[in-house]
Amino acid sequence: MANKSKTWKRQAAAKAKKRKRDKAATKAKAKTGSSSHAPALAPVRSENESSDRTTPVQFPYSYSRDEEVADISVKAPHVVILGAGASRAACLQGDAQGRKLPVMYDLIDTLEIGPLIPEALRSLDFESAYAAMRSDESLLPACEEVEERIFGYFASLELPPYPNVYDHLVLSLRPKDVIATFNWDPFLIQAIQRAYHVGYQPPRVLFLHGNVKVGFCQEDGVVGVRDVPCSRCGNPLSPSRLLYPIGEKNYQQDPVIWDEWRELSRALKSTYWLTIFGYGAPKSDKGAIDLFREAWGHWEQRQFEQIEIIDIRPEDELADLWDDFIHTHHYEVHRSFYDCSLARHPRRTGEFYRQQYLEARWCDENPLPRELDRLSLWRWLGPLLEAEGPEAMMSFYRKQ
Ligand SMILES: [Zn+2]
Repeated sequence: MANKSKTWKRQAAAKAKKRKRDKAATKAKAKTGSSSHAPALAPVRSENESSDRTTPVQFPYSYSRDEEVADISVKAPHVVILGAGASRAACLQGDAQGRKLPVMYDLIDTLEIGPLIPEALRSLDFESAYAAMRSDESLLPACEEVEERIFGYFASLELPPYPNVYDHLVLSLRPKDVIATFNWDPFLIQAIQRAYHVGYQPPRVLFLHGNVKVGFCQEDGVVGVRDVPCSRCGNPLSPSRLLYPIGEKNYQQDPVIWDEWRELSRALKSTYWLTIFGYGAPKSDKGAIDLFREAWGHWEQRQFEQIEIIDIRPEDELADLWDDFIHTHHYEVHRSFYDCSLARHPRRTGEFYRQQYLEARWCDENPLPRELDRLSLWRWLGPLLEAEGPEAMMSFYRKQ
């Protein structure tokens, strides 16, 4: 393991250097107006071809943007794991009302719940402080108050009105794909509701720690948006439980949350591309890591899958964190969502994967236009949705 880790670090450092070289080459190409993306296996010009030709070099195996838009041949899911870093990245200036998005280490200050926490624990991060409180019976009423404040704060958050990372993430995936989130905030559902109003069918969404906006009907096993009538019995869907940070989470205790984990496990077994966006995989959440490891299997058996990590932490740290999951040749680290595969090949990462990595074709990009307003963005997506036909209209809620 130690040797593998060292080898990994050397390879990660070499890859980081290569990426810098590639970025410089990409910038140079952009200046001369040529393609901004050079896949590793793209055909190259033979040595006896003239170097002073004036017409562009033709790549017989190229895969154009139009071909990508028309191609919906891949049915396996792209799986995205979301953590608190994704919500913070989506709302750097705060939510629609300017409320800050906390991560675990600044949650106590951001939510101003310090007075509810014993003085001796206030300097700890929320995870450690809460776990300590939970283990002391005399502090259980204070724990409940903390939970109420957290639920209230997250339930009050609203996505800013203009399209942001959440809208773009949701629109870049097809109904066959899966987003599994650890976040309690309602942004994912709000982004889906915004898209849903114009008839768009989003990917499957899974809430691994519960969510303030998710409701369920225990009798019928229906999961949906909180307070919306159950499609079977008509009663409003009850709020789901939030899973709070204690060292040994038992995901199997809550049937709704356990169902979400089982669904994620199935998706991970069949995915070709895993995107981990702003999720820190805290070591204390051993249950989550064990479940991931079990579903993913050993990295040697996942040599053909692609993993990309969107995170602002140093690459070495991320490589160590995900060491058990990553095959050396198939991972990428991006600082921004807009550099990842979903933003460069929206709704077609599977088809792009097949053409680039299996067919060794030169692939054009189809970058998601991040500056467009909602109506213009919807129009831009038109040809992609049209090509998908009935698939784009698949039902969102599996059990409804
Ligand atoms: Zn019901």
